Amino acid sequence: MFDLNKLLRNNIKQLVPYSSARDEFKGEARIFLDANENSFGSPLPKDYNRYPDPMQWQLKYKLADIKGVPPQHIFIGNGSDEVIDVLYRALCNPGVDNVVLCPPTYGMYEVSARINDVVIRQVSLTEDFQLDMPALQQAVDENTKLIFVCSPNNPTGNSINRSDIELLLNNFDGIVVVDEAYINFARQKTFIQELTEYPNLVVMQTLSKAWGLAALRVGMAFAGEEIINVMNKIKPPYNISQAAQELALQALENVAQVNEWIKETVVQRDVLAASLINLPIVLQVYPSDANFILAKTTDAKGIYQYLVEQGIVVRDRSRVELCAGCLRITVGTPEENETLINTLAQIEVGSTSQKS
Ligand SMILES: *Cc1c(COP(=O)(O)O)cnc(C)c1O
Repeated sequence: MFDLNKLLRNNIKQLVPYSSARDEFKGEARIFLDANENSFGSPLPKDYNRYPDPMQWQLKYKLADIKGVPPQHIFIGNGSDEVIDVLYRALCNPGVDNVVLCPPTYGMYEVSARINDVVIRQVSLTEDFQLDMPALQQAVDENTKLIFVCSPNNPTGNSINRSDIELLLNNFDGIVVVDEAYINFARQKTFIQELTEYPNLVVMQTLSKAWGLAALRVGMAFAGEEIINVMNKIKPPYNISQAAQELALQALENVAQVNEWIKETVVQRDVLAASLINLPIVLQVYPSDANFILAKTTDAKGIYQYLVEQGIVVRDRSRVELCAGCLRITVGTPEENETLINTLAQIEVGSTSQKS
């Protein structure tokens, strides 16, 4: 049975959170002299002299509307990176508790675990980039607090089988984090609608990819209210700036534009995949549910270097487990993709490896 109180670190259970001026007085007043702000104003045309809403309610109400979940089930982080960090700090006693990761996957799960001195248990994906369920069962013990599942997965691009994630949610008493950074490009549907079914589910999404707001740093977690409350208790009080809250709110009005870009990205992804597989230097193009493509090449390092010399940057993932020879290529505009393909078509097989 899932019991959040059994999972939480003692210091977090006992923590009295920082109470900000904005927490202690909410409402209308004539004169605010409670937060040591600059009473005269800010040097900007807009009033940025006041601290922002620590709970980002306006933004949460808008997100709730779009995502179909109550605002109390939403946590907003300074990027998904903060969501990951807050989860480790809530649950994992340094040097004692462990997290299960499934490489090849997003690098921040591991880096953030190392920063927080969380023990890492790696259970590699299978050859077809799916969860190794028997090995996962073996890896989990009473100190396993978290399992991260990235779906669609970065850098492989595929979605993880839904039935496997459900099996984890049903059989693991810790928290299963499903990272849906690329869900907007996927054929598979989000797990957000399953929150009422699974008390141990945390779904992560972000405004950094499909929404085109990587610079704003807005990441989201969707979970039961109990988990969200703990996350709110731990986060820095003003983790999302006023500018980011306002701009995100404004951007969320443009659902139609974003949906257009998603459709176009998916079309371009399939065009790019078809062009890549025709190149002599490309050995395999993996199926993608994301806005990037993983391609196995004859010589990842050499091709990467050659592209850089031509002013084109892709991601060399060839040193990553199960990704030997692989480059990860973000879907660009039609012009960018065409330039990439034309540039790659200039390479003769074997020529890059001689260079490098
Ligand atoms: C890009 C990405 C994110 C987004 O991180 P932000 O900190 O929100 O920009 C999260 N998870 C995965 C797997 C990603 O690839």
